[in-house]
Amino acid sequence: MAEIELMEALPSPTRFLQAMGVPLPIRAELEELEAWWEAEGKAISAMIDRMGTPWLRAYDRFGHRIDEILYPPDYRRMLLQGYRAGAVWRAFEGEGLAATFLIGYVTAFYDAGLYCPYTVSLATALALRKYGDPALQARFLPPLLRRDGEVWQGATWMTEAGGGSDLGATVETVARPEGGHWRLTGEKYFASNAGAELAVVAARPEGAPRTVRGLALFLLPRYREDGGLNYLIRRLKDKIGTRSVPTGEVELQESEAYLLGRPETGIYEILEVLNVSRVANSIGSVALMQRAIAEALAFAERRVAFGRPVLHHPLMRRQFAERIRELQAAFALAWTTVRLLEEVWPEHPPYSERYHLFRLLTHLAKYWTAEQAVQTAKWAMEVHGGMGVLGEYPVERWLREAMILPIWEGTPHRQILDGLEAMGRKGAHRSLFAWLARWADPHALEEMASRVEAHLQLPSEEQEAQAEALFRDLARFTADTLSRSFPGG
Ligand SMILES: Cc1cc2nc3c(=O)[nH]c(=O)nc-3n(C[C@H](O)[C@H](O)[C@H](O)COP(=O)(O)OP(=O)(O)OC[C@H]3O[C@@H](n4cnc5c(N)ncnc54)[C@H](O)[C@@H]3O)c2cc1C
Repeated sequence: MAEIELMEALPSPTRFLQAMGVPLPIRAELEELEAWWEAEGKAISAMIDRMGTPWLRAYDRFGHRIDEILYPPDYRRMLLQGYRAGAVWRAFEGEGLAATFLIGYVTAFYDAGLYCPYTVSLATALALRKYGDPALQARFLPPLLRRDGEVWQGATWMTEAGGGSDLGATVETVARPEGGHWRLTGEKYFASNAGAELAVVAARPEGAPRTVRGLALFLLPRYREDGGLNYLIRRLKDKIGTRSVPTGEVELQESEAYLLGRPETGIYEILEVLNVSRVANSIGSVALMQRAIAEALAFAERRVAFGRPVLHHPLMRRQFAERIRELQAAFALAWTTVRLLEEVWPEHPPYSERYHLFRLLTHLAKYWTAEQAVQTAKWAMEVHGGMGVLGEYPVERWLREAMILPIWEGTPHRQILDGLEAMGRKGAHRSLFAWLARWADPHALEEMASRVEAHLQLPSEEQEAQAEALFRDLARFTADTLSRSFPGG
């Protein structure tokens, strides 16, 4: 694809999507959303970021627990834009799952953190649709799919104080059956979109083993059937970025909850939820890369040093060309993962080879795009020189926002090790290489495939110790190859 065409598209997420050749069945809606962000959203988003952590009003004036999160009214207006546009409902009633990621892309270009509420709401709705019984769906799905100001939000709470990577060992929340539902007691330590009307949470049914196989997935409403609060928000976290989503600590005390799916397959259901968020994280990371490059370009075109705009110095020009190539490749990796998610989402365990290919691509995409987002945001700051570190301009914010992307929804270590598992135990790399063969240089493909096979023969400790370089190279190779599968790539 002509570098010049992509460069011209940089200031606009919708134009960039179009330049990448992605089908845009909701183009008019994306343009409308983008126009809103330009006219109003940017300023609201900047204000929310500068305000820092929102307040938690835990009690009303009469001492009753209410756990209300105090954002200014503009926040709600900003949040509703994406829900109205179809960040959740379009997956069910409209153009399908991919359309929700298009809305996510436009949103994250302007505010990476705001894409989180849409993502976790989508993941909640998908899990409910796939694993909820008909009565549960009839009761709880419609409010999640509303298109007006009454729309409900979702959340996905797995992590507890002992850590988020090793859920099998660290989830202490216990689930006890009672009548037609369950009672959950425990706490969730990193609970994004705290205050959501519904959450999907990991808990351990009483007596289940203290391994990942002992975990099950539950639907947890904000209010009990008698109208009382069903979970308490202990406090909100003071975060470096993503301030447009409240992340809190949540206490469950005999909270009413409903089982999704079956306890025996709970861990698969939990991982399916996490994988939706990882795909969204990749889309958000690429959108952030685009925004950072666009800001850098706007500055470099006008800032003059040594007699010409800094953009026109050979070293800078070369860096821009490379960044745009990286952006194109990262987008190809992330968007291909979206397409595969759409294809394999209906599957149940035991999964097909195609599903394991999706899993491997998801780990590669989450790992690679988040890393690229951080590097690109850092570079955009450098392009701005001293102006880049000032709070007055948006550039320093992109670096703060980017720093969260590699960590939430599983750190780089987790992505690397889970990716290794998908290759070692499920042979997902073979499907990957067979698939990439259409676009790859045959020698490079053979070399990469031999490296992976040789790696998988190493003793397991050594496999893990040496996994990073392999995974990094595999991610780059996959992204570069997939970029050739996009129009003009
Ligand atoms: C802003 C924000 C919002 C979040 N929102 C949510 C949310 O809504 N819901 C939710 O469930 N969670 C949420 N999280 C939690 C997030 O998913 C966890 O932070 C993440 O999974 C890592 O867990 P941890 O922080 O407990 O680190 P730990 O699991 O304690 O890990 C510490 C370090 O050890 C590394 N490590 C662990 N195991 C290995 C290994 N085998 N080999 C090598 N290294 C290893 C980790 O990669 C990490 O670097 C959020 C986190 C953040 C920062």
